[in-house]
Amino acid sequence: PSSGQSRLLEGLNPAQRVAVEYRGPALLIVAGAGSGKTSVLTRRIAGLLESSEAWPSQILAITFTNKAAAEMRERVQELVGRGAEGMWISTFHSACVRILRREAEHFGFTKKFTIYDSADSRALLKRIIKELNADTFGFTVSSASGRISKLKNELQDVESYARGANFNDPTEAMFLEIFRAYTRGLSSANAFDFDDLIGQTVYLFRAFPQVAALYQRRFRHILVDEYQDTNHAQYALIRELTRAPRTDLLAGATGFDGRELRDPTRELEPASLTVVGDSDQSIYAFRGADIRNIVEFERDFSGAKVVLLEQNYRSTQNILSAANAVISNNFDRKDKKLFTTVGDGEKIVGFTGYSQHDEAQFIADEVVTLHETGVQYRDIAVFYRTNAQTRALEEVFIRSALPYRVLGGTKFYERAEIKDVMGYLIAVANPADPMALRRIMNTPKRGIGPATEAALQSHADKSEKTLREAMREADQLGLGPKVTGAILRLGAILDEVALTADTAPVADVLTALLTKTKFVEALRASRDPQDEARAENVEELVAVTKEFQKNNPEGTLIDFLTETSLVAAADDLDDSSGTVSLMTLHTAKGLEYEAVFLTGVEEDLLPHRMSAGEPGGPAEERRLFYVGITRARRRLYLSLAMTRAQFGEVNVAMPSRYLQEIPADLIDWRQSPGMANSRGGTQPRAINANRAGFGAAPALGGGSDYSLDAGAPGATALARAAHNAARPKTEWTSGVTNTVRDNGDLTLKPGDRIRHLDFGEGRVSAVSGSGTKSIAEVQFETAGRKRLLIKISPIEKI
Ligand code: ATP
Ligand code: MG
Repeated sequence: PSSGQSRLLEGLNPAQRVAVEYRGPALLIVAGAGSGKTSVLTRRIAGLLESSEAWPSQILAITFTNKAAAEMRERVQELVGRGAEGMWISTFHSACVRILRREAEHFGFTKKFTIYDSADSRALLKRIIKELNADTFGFTVSSASGRISKLKNELQDVESYARGANFNDPTEAMFLEIFRAYTRGLSSANAFDFDDLIGQTVYLFRAFPQVAALYQRRFRHILVDEYQDTNHAQYALIRELTRAPRTDLLAGATGFDGRELRDPTRELEPASLTVVGDSDQSIYAFRGADIRNIVEFERDFSGAKVVLLEQNYRSTQNILSAANAVISNNFDRKDKKLFTTVGDGEKIVGFTGYSQHDEAQFIADEVVTLHETGVQYRDIAVFYRTNAQTRALEEVFIRSALPYRVLGGTKFYERAEIKDVMGYLIAVANPADPMALRRIMNTPKRGIGPATEAALQSHADKSEKTLREAMREADQLGLGPKVTGAILRLGAILDEVALTADTAPVADVLTALLTKTKFVEALRASRDPQDEARAENVEELVAVTKEFQKNNPEGTLIDFLTETSLVAAADDLDDSSGTVSLMTLHTAKGLEYEAVFLTGVEEDLLPHRMSAGEPGGPAEERRLFYVGITRARRRLYLSLAMTRAQFGEVNVAMPSRYLQEIPADLIDWRQSPGMANSRGGTQPRAINANRAGFGAAPALGGGSDYSLDAGAPGATALARAAHNAARPKTEWTSGVTNTVRDNGDLTLKPGDRIRHLDFGEGRVSAVSGSGTKSIAEVQFETAGRKRLLIKISPIEKI
């Protein structure tokens, strides 16, 4: 091997080397978490480029998030030492959008199609269900969208579904009507939903072999990360791309550079395929992910080489032992044991709090301690099963003045005002899309009410025109002069901006729209105090478009719309920011952190109560828990609360069954201080739980003294009794009540003495930040050192 090649193999173990160096039609790398699957895939790509076995443009690598794609591209460039333009490293969705933008005209769409996110799809379904009165058959937006999505992931369309449908069943017949109307709604709007992006690309390849041949010829090496989470449609896509190109169809075809193909009829082997995955980390069965894809890989790709990786380079042995122990409880899996050479490391820390506030306070305090011992905030993550769990965490993090970000919360692009503005951009780009038009028709208010919209729509339906075309004929509808003028003016604005939309910078297009519609002015003039913040968000969007243009000098409006419609939760991550990351377990996949807090390890949350009735549900939840554990490099915290307010009520929570599966000697259990002592917050936190109170921890070792079955009355009674006994004494949580306090203009300086509702008396040692963000560092007499956000902390000067 050349010197470059040997550098690529540096530090790899023998199995990893094979995975990087093997050449053949198909390679399957199956391995547990943290064993270097993603790293190996990256080096494999670098190796193909370095040895000139492949041009960058011949590589298609599929990752799970856009961020993972960007990281992989960066790593490859680092390894190869030069740019690798033309290389496709992207998610399934992004890759398919690129293909569809080029090819959609083959089947009745235009390049400028809109991508409907789930809110858009739901809005369309809502209209359809209303029009068809389908709710009387028991259909809801969620049930219909769930079924349609499932069918699409199985590559069923209206026709194929209709062939198998039982028309004697009126509910079935109605569902078919919904499915048909939805499909028609999308195509008449020149729009694809998320599932279509994959499914329609497969359809394209199957229906147009000359198009398929072009891509089969181009991509010589296809590599897929996180293969265990591919669904049938994604599998089919890979299958299509890895067939031998029918080069007889390519004579005279144009390549990706717009020129005629060189040597188009030269015969070619199918592309080589490398997939990496871990069936123990399959967590998307609910979206149609199918681990059979891994199991059947060898059958589908005969002669495939299989490589197993067993050495873990991420975590300590204690963390791995816990992960191994938990996952070995799943049936139907090939047993594989991960090991490491880094040593046992610290024990896992278990914590049981009274309430979710208590749990959150523990986490915040530990974060402070970790930070003091040199762990960066960005190296710390907090995971939860459901988004609702973030509230308590955020309250305490804000109060403790800890920098954090929630990944995949209400995303910027989901805010109403941002969707409105994006609606304008979409209406300009894709005039066929009525959804975008309806959204902006009367925003800002211009007197076009629902009745007018309905009149326009019915004119459109009658004359078989689009809503946009109907707007141009508004003066023929006998509407009042004022409203007619408003419609025509809006149409004129869109037409005018559309003239330059293909060539002008996106920021200019956006600014033109905002100016002509007086969008920001209307928000600024409003009396709703929230509108000021909305105006700022819109201005932020202008900044986003400028940033976009800087990064993509050639980028068009369509490119911008594509990029913004495909951001996934993990894409919010910005490693450069020194913040603690809060995210769901699903988002955490593929990531790693020095310290991980896995919260809410309780029955009904983990496993989630919705999983109970699903076949394979609890096993999938266990894999989710396994994914969470294996994200941690050195420190792992498992926490739970005795009571949890959720689903609108306060419930007594039971420890998760999965905790019982971890050998007791791996966990160092701690409890809320109030459990052992009435002065909450004033005791050192590391109290070994002595089967006292909730006793969650010790009961989990051998000889548990109550059943973990949440249905067992004894268990619940014991927990409740413990809870009630502890309750009057608890002052611990009063520091994190839901009402946000406002200390007004309270100013503190070093040396001031203060009293805190929970922590008692202390002296201010330092003050930093300014205004509402001032933070006081306080040395409390008994509670130790704390950082407090002055404005909202329950403190007074004494
Ligand atoms: P997951 O299943 O969570 O996706 P993975 O199998 O993709 O994990 P990677 O993320 O590639 O694993 O690797 C885990 C960690 O181990 C990374 O920090 C990576 O840099 C490191 N690593 C991988 N291989 C080696 C090696 N041979 N020597 C040292 N570190 C390694
Ligand atoms: Mg990985």
